[in-house]
Amino acid sequence: MSGPMLQSCRTCRHGWQFQRAACPACGAQDIVAAESGGGGTVWSVTTVLRAPLPELDMPGGYGIALVTLDEGPRIMCRSAPGLAIGERVQVAVEADGMPRAVPAGSELEDAGSG
Ligand SMILES: [Zn+2]
Repeated sequence: MSGPMLQSCRTCRHGWQFQRAACPACGAQDIVAAESGGGGTVWSVTTVLRAPLPELDMPGGYGIALVTLDEGPRIMCRSAPGLAIGERVQVAVEADGMPRAVPAGSELEDAGSG
C-alpha cells in the first residue's frame, strides 16, 4: 500500500489533497505532486452505523476519521475501530483507491489483510 497523493506549492509551501491547477493559498501555478509518508494525527473520528450503500453495511458499522497528515493537509479516511482524537496513525491507500487509517505501528500487521 502507498500513502495518499498530495500537491504542494513551490512558491508558498502550502499543501493540499485534491488536484488543482493552482495553489489555493497564493494562486501560483508552480505546484508539485508528491506521495505522503502516511503519518498523521487523528483530528476527528466517528462510527457510521447506518451505511448509505448496501456494500458498506457491516455489523458494528465502520469508522471514518479526519487525519491531519504530517505534511499538513487534513484528509478523510476509513478508519480502524477504536481510534481516538489525537492518536498517531498511519494512512495508506487501499486497492480501491480509498485511504485507510490504522494506529501507528500496526500497519505491518494490517498490510496483508487487504
Ligand atoms: Zn502557494
